[in-house]
Amino acid sequence: MKIFINPGHMPNVDSGAVNEHLILRECDIALSIGNLLAHKLKITGHKVKLLQSNNLCGESPDYPNICAIANNWQADIFISLHCNAFNTKARGTETLCYNKNSNAGALAQLIQLQLINSLQNFDAALPDRGIKQRPDLAVLRCTTMPAILIEMAFIDNDNDALLLINKQDTIAAAISRGITDYDAQLHC
Ligand SMILES: [Zn+2]
Repeated sequence: MKIFINPGHMPNVDSGAVNEHLILRECDIALSIGNLLAHKLKITGHKVKLLQSNNLCGESPDYPNICAIANNWQADIFISLHCNAFNTKARGTETLCYNKNSNAGALAQLIQLQLINSLQNFDAALPDRGIKQRPDLAVLRCTTMPAILIEMAFIDNDNDALLLINKQDTIAAAISRGITDYDAQLHC
């Protein structure tokens, strides 16, 4: 498959959410896990394009247009990586898609299952926040292939932040397994 990976936000332009006392930025976590995921997918034979840019869908023409590049490349799937943030108390993992009853919804389910199964081995209290429909999000709305956005954990919660720091390889492996499961489901 051709897999487009979009780590959210952009260093030096938009850090995304931050955890000030752990000195963590969403843009760095997303890129680090995105690179690990890209490596795992390439060694299992997939074609991968990874792009982090402040221009999601044409709104910031100074930067590469993520959705246009993914669409022109004719990616089979699109994976956006983000960290959630709310009130420092909220926790958990959720995966967003345009429409649950679609291939994107199926992909979201398979990845969410792998993430929860893997991360709860290290932190049994991590909530499974499930799959959510977000047709308003640019990367889900402007892409022409099944697209999902993973909110891997809450960067402003210190328990979740520990997973984002220490379990990056586990997170990348879980996403990679979810993609493999989706690929197998499509071709059986
Ligand atoms: Zn974000």
